[in-house]
Amino acid sequence: MLQDRFGRVATDLRVSLTDRCNLRCSYCMPAEGLDWAPDETQLTDDEVVHLVRIGVEQLGIREVRFTGGEPLVRRGLVDIVRRSAAFGPEVSLTTNGLGLARTAQTLADAGLSRVNVSLDTIRPETFATITRRDRFHDVVAGLKAAADAGLGPVKVNAVLLRGVNDDQAPELLDWCLARGYALRFIEQMPLDAQHGWQRDEMVTADEILASLQASFRLDPASEPRGSAPAELWTVDGGPGTVGVIASVTRPFCGDCDRVRLTADGQIRNCLFAREESDLRTPLRAGASDEEIAGRWVAALRGKRAGHGIDDPTFLQPDRPMSAIGG
Ligand code: SAM
Ligand code: SF4
Repeated sequence: MLQDRFGRVATDLRVSLTDRCNLRCSYCMPAEGLDWAPDETQLTDDEVVHLVRIGVEQLGIREVRFTGGEPLVRRGLVDIVRRSAAFGPEVSLTTNGLGLARTAQTLADAGLSRVNVSLDTIRPETFATITRRDRFHDVVAGLKAAADAGLGPVKVNAVLLRGVNDDQAPELLDWCLARGYALRFIEQMPLDAQHGWQRDEMVTADEILASLQASFRLDPASEPRGSAPAELWTVDGGPGTVGVIASVTRPFCGDCDRVRLTADGQIRNCLFAREESDLRTPLRAGASDEEIAGRWVAALRGKRAGHGIDDPTFLQPDRPMSAIGG
């Protein structure tokens, strides 16, 4: 079991399949992109599947979510999904949706159960401002294809930026409700590659809720939250809901059940961890599954109680979100 010193057990594995991306969301990376990790440092498809198998068969992982960077740009994605799903966990994907219109059905056939698609606005011009690419309609087509392929409930992740789209929460919710997508707003976190995040600039959960409540009646959802990062509300009496992932202002670290594997084979016990445990080197050196599992267990022992964003000593991790796997 992947248990930490505080009794939390990690059962949800987030696997980054690449640090590369075909969008340039301003809260994530600079316009020119980043120095992508060299190919030889990236786990091969076989290596990813090998580590997923150890996680599932030896360490109690029950859910595997592929992310990035943009996981749809990884050529072996369908094969990785198929082979990972065969070990029995629920397999899902977090994606920007570009190209999903083409691959949603193939992914569903390979054993993918659900997708989260990031969409911060329903205005094409705001989309182009935030992502620095004119691809709004591709994302909309990707969402529809995902729903048609049965990859539901389709979730939409949105980040609000002050002065850019912070006045657009109600219209985004309306749009998602009309299509049966479950919308969740994510508070902006200090994980951008440019280190431009500022506590007093971010749009808080309280502001998001106030903006929604001007247009909708929100009631706390009755279903237990468990380890889910989103706090849920029913909208106008239901059945539609909206979620807010208030990582900064209402941290949920005490209930965290997540562990992360980066595309270059490092275990991170937290998005905000400052240390990583290398599994790639022992894997390539021929270590046994038991040795690798042992390293993984040790990596979880060091998990801190909380992310400490509000501590005066907080330091943003060296890796940006796109290279960790959000
Ligand atoms: N490219 C895929 C996507 O955008 O869905 C997967 C990776 S992306 C890093 C995962 C999620 O992290 C997205 O929903 C994105 O909006 C969110 N994200 C990226 N940078 C963030 C930040 N600084 N604060 C909060 N969420 C962020
Ligand atoms: Fe790419 Fe996702 Fe980062 Fe946007 S949030 S730049 S889509 S990795």
